[in-house]
Amino acid sequence: MKVNGRCHCGNIRYEAEIDPGKVTMCHCTDCQMLTGSAFRANVQTPRETFVLRGGALKTYIKTAESGNKRAHAFCPECGTPVYSAAIDDPPFYSLRVGCLDQRRELRPSRQIWCQSALPWSMNVQAIEKLDRQ
Ligand SMILES: [Zn+2]
Ligand SMILES: [Zn+2]
Repeated sequence: MKVNGRCHCGNIRYEAEIDPGKVTMCHCTDCQMLTGSAFRANVQTPRETFVLRGGALKTYIKTAESGNKRAHAFCPECGTPVYSAAIDDPPFYSLRVGCLDQRRELRPSRQIWCQSALPWSMNVQAIEKLDRQ
């Protein structure tokens, strides 16, 4: 499936090919901090299908507790996270679903790092719902 993404300020624009059956929610503590939210939704794209159509990404090298390093690409103007990838010759990018125009169709099929999930985030069904703020 072809997807288009952009950052919040519009500086960064890109296209990629993804498998809509491979959307993952990640509850790891790094994703919580780097999104400022409860979890992150990701989908893998083969690196060769990712095409940057505008702007230049900035990269933050994150070191995990395990010592594993990953490159996190984001917009240098507005800070929107775009993807993460292995440092050396990555075969895939992990795209951030919230920045893709097609995000409504990209329902996750798997949740990972549930051991660090915020307990309330595993069931938001009972939380009061308003159409707008
Ligand atoms: Zn931006
Ligand atoms: Zn994570």
